[in-house]
Amino acid sequence: VDLSQYVQDCAQELQFDMEKKGVHFALTELPKDPLIVTADRDKLRRVLLNIIENAIKYSDEGNCRITLTLREIDGHAVIQIKDRGQGISEEALPHIFDRFYRADPSRNTATGGSGLGLAIAKQIMEEHGGRIGATSMIGQGTTVYMALPLNKQEESQG
Ligand code: ATP
Ligand code: MG
Repeated sequence: VDLSQYVQDCAQELQFDMEKKGVHFALTELPKDPLIVTADRDKLRRVLLNIIENAIKYSDEGNCRITLTLREIDGHAVIQIKDRGQGISEEALPHIFDRFYRADPSRNTATGGSGLGLAIAKQIMEEHGGRIGATSMIGQGTTVYMALPLNKQEESQG
């Protein structure tokens, strides 16, 4: 899969839906060159959707801005999905990829959810030899990043 192309396609597809929900979605820093990884498209899509769904769910309604970037770092394709939502506390952050874990404010509100979205995302990333993580600050927002190893170029292809 060429992630440069795939991410762009997914974003284009999502854009319409998000605009309807009043979500501001921006795709920035898309590399011009292909970034080839070995991956299952449907599963990758699941990961992206789970992260984006959270970004929307844990932001104030009508005031959700999501930025997606794709970069090449150290032989990996790295996707970052950043929101300016409610953020995650330092205590909760290490647990958000655990099954059935929902951080405090989420448990008490009507957003709903089973606490599985990120656990599934993590499992898929591990199946692909990749990694997923997050940084966040209460009140500032959350950035979820996912890294997939790039396919090695054959020597002959230079
Ligand atoms: P599900 O995805 O199964 O519907 P969920 O969204 O609660 O339920 P996860 O997606 O696994 O579960 O997320 C786990 C918890 O991490 C959430 O309940 C929420 O507390 C916190 N969280 C995840 N993403 C964000 C985000 N972008 N901003 C703030 N908190 C988040
Ligand atoms: Mg979720």
